[in-house]
Amino acid sequence: MDGLSERLPAQTLVRDMPSSPVTEFPWQQTLASRIACEGIGLHSGAPVRMVLHPAEANSGIVFVRTDLRDAVVPARHDAVVDTRLCTMLGRGKAQIGTVEHVLAALAGAGIDNARIEINGPEVPILDGSAEPFLFLIDCAGTRQLSAPRRAIRVLRKVRVERGEAFAELLPVASAGLTLEFEIDFPAAAIGRQSLALELTPASFRAELAEARTFTLAEEVAQLRAAGLALGGNLSNALVVRDATILNPGGLRMEREFVRHKLLDAVGDLALAGGTLQAVYRSSRGGHALNNALLHALFASRANWRSVTMQAQTMLSAA
Ligand SMILES: [Zn+2]
Repeated sequence: MDGLSERLPAQTLVRDMPSSPVTEFPWQQTLASRIACEGIGLHSGAPVRMVLHPAEANSGIVFVRTDLRDAVVPARHDAVVDTRLCTMLGRGKAQIGTVEHVLAALAGAGIDNARIEINGPEVPILDGSAEPFLFLIDCAGTRQLSAPRRAIRVLRKVRVERGEAFAELLPVASAGLTLEFEIDFPAAAIGRQSLALELTPASFRAELAEARTFTLAEEVAQLRAAGLALGGNLSNALVVRDATILNPGGLRMEREFVRHKLLDAVGDLALAGGTLQAVYRSSRGGHALNNALLHALFASRANWRSVTMQAQTMLSAA
């Protein structure tokens, strides 16, 4: 729902976050226990139950449709089948929509391996942000595994464009992922916003996790007419009409809109299959450009290499 028109504003940087990049934790992690939640799908409006399970090292994040047979879908960029209103994964007849917020929460919390069981076609939207998923992860706890964390080091600039929108990955000397996003919406309640931050468990929790998905009031009617956003309401999405935010409580945090775009990017980039060591920049981007960017990254072995934290340590010691 966030793929509306956007435009360039000035930079704002959030620096000196009180934590290390996710990639500086050398060992893979999973959940310490399983945990479940129930909610409705944003687009289907159907009730769904989701269970997050621990998973063994090197298994990655995997979705399982428990209402279908043989319905295992890895959280990988090459399993993305639709990016128009959300990021949807699919394999065969098994599709799972709106994966980006739970993937962002797992990535933000530094969870490398998890099995996500769902008895329907869409991850529950809950409150439209990643905060409820982060709460679930907190409740389940995290467990360190005896395998080194892998990261994907970007070696040269990779960029994709669509009209005025772009997304790019740039090499970086540090071991972490820094994200910069710019939007500009005609709706005065949104306008021009930008934010940049280094992804750490602390920065994700403080700066991004609570930012909700958003849409324009005029789009809601169009989506409903198309049989979409059937589960959308003011308790799970910010809705904007010109200069007015229709949600009675208003915003949760300043620049909530661009923060949500960064949250979406964290979730979409988690589909790389490992933490990126790069600077990610986007203007007016969204799920489609994020997925195209990962396809462009992995199109050439000259663009990236896989590293482990042990290898990083040896490199920096050499
Ligand atoms: Zn989103």
